[in-house]
Amino acid sequence: MASRNQNRPPRSPNAKKEGLGGIPFDKRRKVETQGTGRRQAFSAVNKQDVTMNSDVGSIEECGKVEFTKDEVLALLSERAKAGKFDTKAKIEQMTDIIKRLKICVKWFQQADETHVQEKESLRVSLESAEQKYNHKELEARTKEEELHATISNLKENVVSLHEKLAKEESCKQDAIECHRREKESRVAAEKVQASLGEELYKVKEEKMAAKQKVTSLEDMYKRLQEYNTSLQQYNSKLQTDLETVRAALTRAEKEKSSILENLSTLRGHSKSLQDQLASSRVLQDDAIKQKDSLLLEVTNLRNELQQVRDDRDRQVVQSQKLAEEIGKYQENVGKSSQELDILIAKSGSLEETCSLQKERINMLEQQLAIASERQKMADASVSLTRTEFEEQKHLLCELQDRLADMEHQLCEAELLRKKLHNTILELKGNIRVFCRVRPLLPDDGGRHEATVIAYPTSTEARGRGVDLVQSGNKHPFTFDKVFNHEASQEEVFFEISQLVQSALDGYKVCIFAYGQTGSGKTYTMMGRPETPEQKGLIPRSLEQIFQASQSLGAQGWKYKMQVSMLEIYNETIRDLLSTNRTTSMELVRADSGTSGKQYTITHDVNGHTHVSDLTIFDVCSIGKISSLLQQAAQSRSVGKTQMNEQSSRSHFVFTMRISGVNESTEQQVQGVLNLIDLAGSERLSKSGATGDRLKETQAINKSLSALSDVIFALAKKEDHVPFRNSKLTYLLQPCLGGDSKTLMFVNISPDPSSAGESLCSLRFAARVNACEIGIPRRQTSTKLLDSRLSYG
Ligand code: ADP
Ligand code: MG
Repeated sequence: MASRNQNRPPRSPNAKKEGLGGIPFDKRRKVETQGTGRRQAFSAVNKQDVTMNSDVGSIEECGKVEFTKDEVLALLSERAKAGKFDTKAKIEQMTDIIKRLKICVKWFQQADETHVQEKESLRVSLESAEQKYNHKELEARTKEEELHATISNLKENVVSLHEKLAKEESCKQDAIECHRREKESRVAAEKVQASLGEELYKVKEEKMAAKQKVTSLEDMYKRLQEYNTSLQQYNSKLQTDLETVRAALTRAEKEKSSILENLSTLRGHSKSLQDQLASSRVLQDDAIKQKDSLLLEVTNLRNELQQVRDDRDRQVVQSQKLAEEIGKYQENVGKSSQELDILIAKSGSLEETCSLQKERINMLEQQLAIASERQKMADASVSLTRTEFEEQKHLLCELQDRLADMEHQLCEAELLRKKLHNTILELKGNIRVFCRVRPLLPDDGGRHEATVIAYPTSTEARGRGVDLVQSGNKHPFTFDKVFNHEASQEEVFFEISQLVQSALDGYKVCIFAYGQTGSGKTYTMMGRPETPEQKGLIPRSLEQIFQASQSLGAQGWKYKMQVSMLEIYNETIRDLLSTNRTTSMELVRADSGTSGKQYTITHDVNGHTHVSDLTIFDVCSIGKISSLLQQAAQSRSVGKTQMNEQSSRSHFVFTMRISGVNESTEQQVQGVLNLIDLAGSERLSKSGATGDRLKETQAINKSLSALSDVIFALAKKEDHVPFRNSKLTYLLQPCLGGDSKTLMFVNISPDPSSAGESLCSLRFAARVNACEIGIPRRQTSTKLLDSRLSYG
């Protein structure tokens, strides 16, 4: 409220009552205190219906009183109004006037004194400044001398360094010569080394041959030595043989003599033996006779023995058969004994299982008894549970009733929320202005110049004030909100998210971005949708709408959303979602009014806008929206290269129509969200345009001034609002009128070279900020929703 008054022209004292409109007296006083302190004092002095004494007393109490020239003149020209003969009253009035005149005079004196004091203090500060200046000048001179000295030193250094450099150069030449000679000698040495190597190789080969000869000679020598030794051995052996032969000869002679002796003895012996032989022959004949008889006896005995042997064999065969039979019997016996063992074992196990079964039967009987007891208990508990169940059922019914109640209350609360939300927005004003200053970019020229944008830090203006300094003059501005260069996209969106909620609640909402080219309008509106932190207002709004429509779905709300995107270039509409996109040629034709598509704008009685031939998409997912945004961005960027940066020369209008219906309450709402990236607002002189550029710039300036005309006409509640003066205002007519909510972002570049344009933008925004447009109406009805959703 205070901000708006700051930007308004001062009101004349007589007009103050009408001018303040419906604002109660208390508030008005407060407003004026904040606005101009002077006004309060004057009204207090001039007040007619307050009794004099108390009035004057209160003025003296309030101490410092100020007057303007007009007020003083008014006071001087004031005359007593009482009747001619009513001297008493006249005197009273006169004394009153005199008192006020006295106060005025006192104020004059005080002002005079303060002026003298100020003059004195200014003189003192001037003197001190001069002293400081002299001092500084002296310092500068001494510094200059010092610098001269250092410069001469440096020059000397440079000369000596040059000399050194020459010396170094000659050294370098010598070194190069040495290096060359060294190289030559190295080559010669390498040649010598090669020839020596060859000789060495030959010598080595000769040495090898000689070595081989030596070894063969050595072998021969060895073999000859061996031969010699073997001959010596042979010789010695022959000598030993000779010795033995000689010994054998002597022994043989001895044996001959002994044999001759034996021969004589043996001849005697032979005679005796011949005698014995004759007697033996007689004995031999007898023995032969005995032998024949014995042979006979032996043959007989042999026959008997054969018979006995046959008997024995038969007996053996019989005994073998018997033994076999015995074996078979034994086997049989073994088998049956095994079977017997198995049977015994089986009967033992059967007995065991029998006893086990008995035990189990006993156990089962016991369990049966326990189970029957339990069943009895369970029966009892079933009846108990049944009664509990009945109780729970009852409780459930109650809870369901309460739930229905709560849901009803929730619906009512939602209604209340919408109402309150709207009241809050109304209190904030239906046309609001936010200012956003973008950061200084590397391309900006004035990086090293003094900053031109400042943010006041007083508690009143914090976050709402911005000061622009141009050629030494400070221009302060106040808006509903000021975002400095550090503000993130998220922070900016947070401030407008309530407006987006309003569109869902059934209001018509327009958000504009205004400012010169390069000030960050497109960044604010669209941002960079591919990086989550840099997404602009459009993608974020859409996300919020989808999320909120989903959560409101729990309360029975069903929403349908339609999206269109268009561009207004040279007062011609261009459909950004059209599948057969207009080429640059078509655009030129469209520009001259010969295109096939007319894009005529019409408004119906319900305040719904229709644009013929415009592509409208029904959207039900965020994915679809982002593909549409991409398509639009692409057709805009195509235009940018082909149409000489047309994107900054055209207005971009994103429109989303939201139709909601609550089947349980039969309520329906129809909201519209318009997000508009305006064309660059720079003035003609700056762009220095001619030809087509001139035409573009004129069209932009015309449509922007038409927009401001519409806003100001609405603010003044004029009968005629010039909506038809531009395509943009005509298109947005239902959303700019009394039942809408409008927000304008004024985008500012901090570049000092843009200070002039920034000042224009800020002034324009300040004028818009001073406006108040009607009270928004929500477009709702309790009729069942027409299945064909109208568009607007
Ligand atoms: P406009 O649409 O007003 O002509 P742009 O949105 O295209 O300006 O911004 C111009 C340049 O400044 C772009 O490169 C953009 O990325 C950058 N820019 C604008 N605002 C910001 C910001 N708040 N933070 C970072 N960069 C920004
Ligand atoms: Mg842009």
